Amino acid sequence: MNKNNLWNNILLLMEKELNPHIFKNYLKDTRQLDINNDKLTVEVSSKFHKEYLNSHLVNKIKSSLSQLLNKDISILFKIAKENKLNVPAVPKEKLKEKTVNEKEINDTKKLSANLNLKFSFENFVVGASNQFAHAACLSVAKSPSKTYNPLFIYSGAGLGKTHLINAIGDRIIETNSHLSVLYIPGDKFINDLIHSLQNGKMDSFRAKYRKIDVLLMDDVQFIAGKPATQEEFFHTFNTLYMNGKQIVLTSDKPPKEIPLLEERLRSRFQSGLLADIAFPDLETREAILYKKCEVEKVKIPPEVINYIAKKIKHSIRDLEGAFVKLVALTTLMNQEINLELAKKAVKDMIKENVKKGTTLDTIQQTVGDYYGIDKKQLCSKRRIREILIPRQVAMYIAREITNASTTEIGRSFGSKDHSTAIHAIEKIRNLRKMDNNLNASIEKIIKDLRMENM
Ligand code: ADP
Ligand code: MG
Repeated sequence: MNKNNLWNNILLLMEKELNPHIFKNYLKDTRQLDINNDKLTVEVSSKFHKEYLNSHLVNKIKSSLSQLLNKDISILFKIAKENKLNVPAVPKEKLKEKTVNEKEINDTKKLSANLNLKFSFENFVVGASNQFAHAACLSVAKSPSKTYNPLFIYSGAGLGKTHLINAIGDRIIETNSHLSVLYIPGDKFINDLIHSLQNGKMDSFRAKYRKIDVLLMDDVQFIAGKPATQEEFFHTFNTLYMNGKQIVLTSDKPPKEIPLLEERLRSRFQSGLLADIAFPDLETREAILYKKCEVEKVKIPPEVINYIAKKIKHSIRDLEGAFVKLVALTTLMNQEINLELAKKAVKDMIKENVKKGTTLDTIQQTVGDYYGIDKKQLCSKRRIREILIPRQVAMYIAREITNASTTEIGRSFGSKDHSTAIHAIEKIRNLRKMDNNLNASIEKIIKDLRMENM
């Protein structure tokens, strides 16, 4: 085998074996520099890549190498001198170099479009969970109004919707600076509307929202259940759409599940592309932490990154929270970042989470999942046993593990007062004493709920 091509052979093997996004993000842009005395030197584009390769992939690569050559080879990753690619996940698209002046002008434009300058594609980490939404956003940013219109992104809290929708605006201003962009959260739209109505300023309200080229509305679910706002937004949407303007919306649920959303809006929201963001996998969570280290210029050992990423699974906002806490702790204690401090930071986070994290909503979801019925049925008034027992179990668990009152529990299941909940809790408490299966089910569900907050 030609030794100069050794690394290319490894890349071919790795491409077959690895998850495509990992390959693309961490290996594709590497190259062989040297091979000498059984030591292979490979050039990588940043410190981030180097750390990732050393902590995650090096063993796999070494074992492929030793199979290929029948001997052990050590690998050294070296950061490229001209470090243009310090972006972990998205190789930065070639953007024209901006002069200082141009940058200032663009930043001013972004601020007046209401954008958050921190949220760009450059610092968004792509993984399997958000790949589709990311690609859709990138494509809209590249050719506004020409691909998906409207683009509708949805996910649970803290998974990157606000980041992505801002990134679209950011990229459009960078590359298509003649277009006018406006970012607005749903609740701000409502306030703006009320304010304009009260002050007789509807003309300027309409001019503001109907004359832009790109409307980015975050958390559109807030307008549901508000007739005047929905009416106004319906006309805003139509005017923009008919004039070939780009609309991007985000929400915590897909259109068909947003309660109290007018039908005509629902059908419009569904008429373009829907993209959801799922919970990030472990690799993505680690990559996000490495990215934070790079941006904040702090060094965190791989085992600490791994620990935090393993413990915090369901929200990138919480992942960032743990990171901030850890950095604060180290500064406070004037100590190097280590596993012990990380454990403390994560423990504090989890404590906060258990208090506020296990909501009645999560309990309904988890119990529903366990018994294989959907939440709607679980919270309905149907009294067949297959639904009634799970409903009563959910109320019982809610009482056991949250601070919610019986009235709150009753209401969350659609009852007027606390009597249904009290009855359910009593009944399950008694049944539990006699029914081992039920007992085991309840324990399992509670355990799952606790795990969710870890
Ligand atoms: P959402 O709007 O879905 O509640 P956000 O967009 O506000 O979530 O994300 C929460 C935090 O997590 C933000 O600080 C955001 O920058 C960060 N974040 C989310 N997804 C990513 C990602 N893929 N890469 C980097 N940071 C992310
Ligand atoms: Mg948000």
